[in-house]
Amino acid sequence: MNKTEAEKQKKKLFKKTSLAYDRLGKQEREAVFTLGDEYKDFLNAAKTEREAADKIVALAAERGFVDIDGLLAQKTKKSPPQKVFRLFKDKTIAMAVLGQEKISFGTRIIASHIDSPRLDLKQNPIYEDLSMGLMKTHYYGGIRKYHWLSIPLALHGSIIKANGEKIDITIGEAIDDPVFTVTDLLPHLAGKLQGDKKISDVFVGEKLNLIAGSLPLGSESVKERFKLGILQLLNDKYNIIEEDFISAEIEAVPAGSARDIGFDRSMVGAYGQDDRICAFTSLEALFDTPSPEKTAIALFFDKEEIGSEGSGGAKSSFLEDFISDLLFLNKEPTDNRTLRKTLINSQCLSADVNAAMDPDFKEVHEKLNAPKLGFGICLTKFTGVGGKSGSNDASAEFVGHIRTLFNKNEIAWQTGELGKIDEGGGGTVAKFLAQFGMDVLDCGPAILSMHSPFEVAGKTDVYMTYKGYKAFYNSPE
Ligand code: MN
Ligand code: MN
Repeated sequence: MNKTEAEKQKKKLFKKTSLAYDRLGKQEREAVFTLGDEYKDFLNAAKTEREAADKIVALAAERGFVDIDGLLAQKTKKSPPQKVFRLFKDKTIAMAVLGQEKISFGTRIIASHIDSPRLDLKQNPIYEDLSMGLMKTHYYGGIRKYHWLSIPLALHGSIIKANGEKIDITIGEAIDDPVFTVTDLLPHLAGKLQGDKKISDVFVGEKLNLIAGSLPLGSESVKERFKLGILQLLNDKYNIIEEDFISAEIEAVPAGSARDIGFDRSMVGAYGQDDRICAFTSLEALFDTPSPEKTAIALFFDKEEIGSEGSGGAKSSFLEDFISDLLFLNKEPTDNRTLRKTLINSQCLSADVNAAMDPDFKEVHEKLNAPKLGFGICLTKFTGVGGKSGSNDASAEFVGHIRTLFNKNEIAWQTGELGKIDEGGGGTVAKFLAQFGMDVLDCGPAILSMHSPFEVAGKTDVYMTYKGYKAFYNSPE
């Protein structure tokens, strides 16, 4: 074979992956940045699972989605609306646009999660040491502990008082708000204690304590007057007492807004993009799916970062309950068999991030199978640890189906594995949804600095993820 022929064969036989940017026309290139701005606004409003849930519900209500529990509570029968949502315990959401087909013929589900790694305040948080008021934290999800030292942190959360009253707080986001911080050792004194040790031994959870004040209340003879100073301020402002922290969920998250990254503003830097990037893109995709053939469902789970536990995690019966209510509203049978068949007939994208190959840490990736920033939505056939342990491992048939769908719809996509074999690993909600018998594929953008206080995403990937999810919702096959 001569050179020209070989080149021709190469073009025919080799897999083509293209930069998402190269596949965009002029108008779409503008749309990438418009969507990027909306995405940053979403991230700024949604720094905890509760805030994300509030924001999603507010946007859904604006778009005419109706509370399914309100509908079910109605005494008089009315014809059900086509767009519904359920907010469950303020942290988990399901939304649906009813399709033209019966629900029991199967649905299109996109499942993301809205919790992110952070530092939670402990239930007895406030103490004092060396004339300072401090707060104990317990980290949530997989963090690299040293990421959380020496940066400004904001407190977001809710406190349930003894009388049942709920107080929502956000301190540290407005430019003139105070912030909180975990201290670190100066390099001059870090040699023996930190420098010569393993990183996992150096940074310990019990040292992730927040500095919370340094002015005393009362004279020197008053014991714990720095702790008292803080509690007095909190009592003045929120009318709470120390015991109220027992029934509170307060999260310390990186203070500040989402930012553009790069001279060309082509990326977004922000906390919590795992997995609010998929929450945002699936939400926008659902909004742009007014009349699908199959019922389109968006799920926004809590507790993914700690194993999908709890009543609002993907291991719960939240989805079954929601679908049986959809069947009821749509006047379809609601018996166990119909519910099972609906679930089995459904298709699901587990919408979560993958780790993009990092130019400075290429060695943890295997370059043939690592996703890269800017190459569009990533199909992750399997996740897991070691020999794919704990992974859903999507079927070749379903991967093939999604691949064809994305090709048809001009979506830039790539495939990816989370790091080299035996380098580490992780999981998603995929396997918990696959238990129902439906086809599930992990599918979302690849980001840099995942699980750090400042994760990096490409705006063209945000756009392609949105476009991919929209194509999925609108696919009748
Ligand atoms: Mn995730
Ligand atoms: Mn995660």
